[in-house]
Amino acid sequence: MRKFRHIFLDLDRTLWDFEENSRQELESIFRKFKLQQLGISLPNEFIKIYKSINEECWSLYRLNKLSKEDLRSIRFLKTLEYFGISDQIIAEQIGQEYVNNSPKRTILIDGCHELLIYLKNKYQLHIITNGFEEVQVKKLSNSKLTPYFEKMITSESAGFKKPRKEIFNYALNLTGAKLSESVMIGDDLQTDIQGAVNIGMESIYFNPNRKNHSFNILADVETLLEIKSIL
Ligand SMILES: [Mg+2]
Repeated sequence: MRKFRHIFLDLDRTLWDFEENSRQELESIFRKFKLQQLGISLPNEFIKIYKSINEECWSLYRLNKLSKEDLRSIRFLKTLEYFGISDQIIAEQIGQEYVNNSPKRTILIDGCHELLIYLKNKYQLHIITNGFEEVQVKKLSNSKLTPYFEKMITSESAGFKKPRKEIFNYALNLTGAKLSESVMIGDDLQTDIQGAVNIGMESIYFNPNRKNHSFNILADVETLLEIKSIL
């Protein structure tokens, strides 16, 4: 068995429960901005359309076809427009509310703290994330995750996004980790796992939805706590 020393973890949907935190914030926005009175019948309708538009916007952002600022305002503008509401001011207020408040939410993926306590005893832990620097710092801090990690590498600080090799090289340089001593853990095949494969790093796919794939990796786990028997 190889001797690993550094574990790089993704944050959103791997440790921080993005889906649930985001859903709760969007429900709160639905009530606060009285979106029902503006013609959107149910919070779930609003959330469903927002999620699909947000995904499209993030795909463009990952390809550098949309800036961070445009991503933040356009996703809500388009969501409201879908429901026949064209109001740039409300869209911007909602965008601001979402960016300010969602990082304050603290629901974590099951087993998160237990896994991190276990890993922290044996390895140096770091985050590699495509999320925005100031947002991810707040999520870690509000969720009491900061003390587990030595370094957080964001695509903003690295200048490149996962799955680009450059962000992984940047992470290795910053942490002093050797490639052969490192493992990437993440929930996304296209960014986390493909990224690790691109640079030749071992990886563990956190795969709660049992997605099929053909990557030849260290492990594929359904729950975070399974990782304790691997690392
Ligand atoms: Mg993720």
